[in-house]
Amino acid sequence: MQTTLASFIKDRPEGAEAAALLRACVHCGFCQATCPTYQLLGDELDSPRGRIHLIKQVLEGDIPTARTQLHLDRCLTCRACETACPSGVQYGRLLEIGRQVVIERQPRPWAQRVLRRVLAAWLTGPLFAPSVAVGRVLRPLLPRALAVSLPPRVAAGAVPNTGQHIRTVLLLGGCVQPALAPRITAATVRVLHALNIRTVTPPQAGCCGAIHQHLDAPAAAQADARRNIDAWWPHVQAGIEAIIVNTSGCGTQLRDYGLLLRDDPVYAVRAARVSALVRDLSELVAPQVAVLRERVPGLAGQRVACHSPCSLQHAQRLGGVVEQLLTGLGVVLVPVAEPALCCGAAGTYHLLQPVLSQSLRERKLAALTQGQPQRIVSANLGCLLQLAPDAPVPIGHWIELVDQHLS
Ligand code: SF4
Ligand code: SF4
Repeated sequence: MQTTLASFIKDRPEGAEAAALLRACVHCGFCQATCPTYQLLGDELDSPRGRIHLIKQVLEGDIPTARTQLHLDRCLTCRACETACPSGVQYGRLLEIGRQVVIERQPRPWAQRVLRRVLAAWLTGPLFAPSVAVGRVLRPLLPRALAVSLPPRVAAGAVPNTGQHIRTVLLLGGCVQPALAPRITAATVRVLHALNIRTVTPPQAGCCGAIHQHLDAPAAAQADARRNIDAWWPHVQAGIEAIIVNTSGCGTQLRDYGLLLRDDPVYAVRAARVSALVRDLSELVAPQVAVLRERVPGLAGQRVACHSPCSLQHAQRLGGVVEQLLTGLGVVLVPVAEPALCCGAAGTYHLLQPVLSQSLRERKLAALTQGQPQRIVSANLGCLLQLAPDAPVPIGHWIELVDQHLS
């Protein structure tokens, strides 16, 4: 698609980038069928092709309306459309530019701006962990919708000293995961210890920046990236093997650090180096399956439904890695319909678009349970929190399942 950039954007680098991305789209519509919002709403403007058209119009000078913003906001950024696109359109990046330009041209109402700021500050700030603790105490008094979204406290368990191993990796601690599901990181450390891999989590590193990115705060997302790079850089210089992420939404953000800071004269090179070192946990464990299988004999024959997060299968293009890993450990994977479809979590989407999010949750749970699994696993905290309240069988991170069977 040829785009004639309007004067307000034609000399800006993101204008040229968006025009190049738009050029790749031939408007064929192969992406439509995979789009969750198009499936739910049936509106062309809630489809990838429709949103691409809206972005094009704005870049060509149309003044965006609240309706334009709504159609872009309804996008889950699941990027299923990228996987389906035969022309290689980088829709995720295009949407990021489009949303930013729309906000510049049509600022959100103040109440929405305040809500986003408060959410970002709460989720990434020091008040989050105490408020989760208080929420758990007050759970019987909370409205059901709030109470079920708060996972029960599960002890993380003892973490071994991994100092003696030769292989060493950095492990992202994250922002909300330590308060909501500390066992995921503890399980990661234990399983990697069993594989003779040492994990290091510098306390100065924190949120990957995805929350700020989702909530219209790209400068704060860049600040998150710089802080993490500073925390990791001495380890990178010392030759760390990889930066491991056990929540795929954060992994997607870390892989974008190079892009995010490409114009930063101080951080551009470091950011690209950090992005190149990022690995999903499954990528580290998969080559060790034969060794690990000896340590988890109790896993053999377990019937499990695996939900592959969009951030893993579409954004990072690692679909099937967790599934193969689990099969290699003897797990029996039950069939899951519509495996490419988003569960509706999508970062902060479930908070901002609760109706669409709930529909997708119900649809995903129906697909995951049709094969009557004993358990559901995933690779992203957001998906687990989204699905857990209504899941009829236990649900957790796949590393927790492996950890529970370590002998
Ligand atoms: S994004 Fe890809 S699949 Fe969708 S209309 Fe454009 S070229 Fe076709
Ligand atoms: S990212 Fe997901 S929700 Fe957004 S247009 Fe693409 S398929 Fe649809």
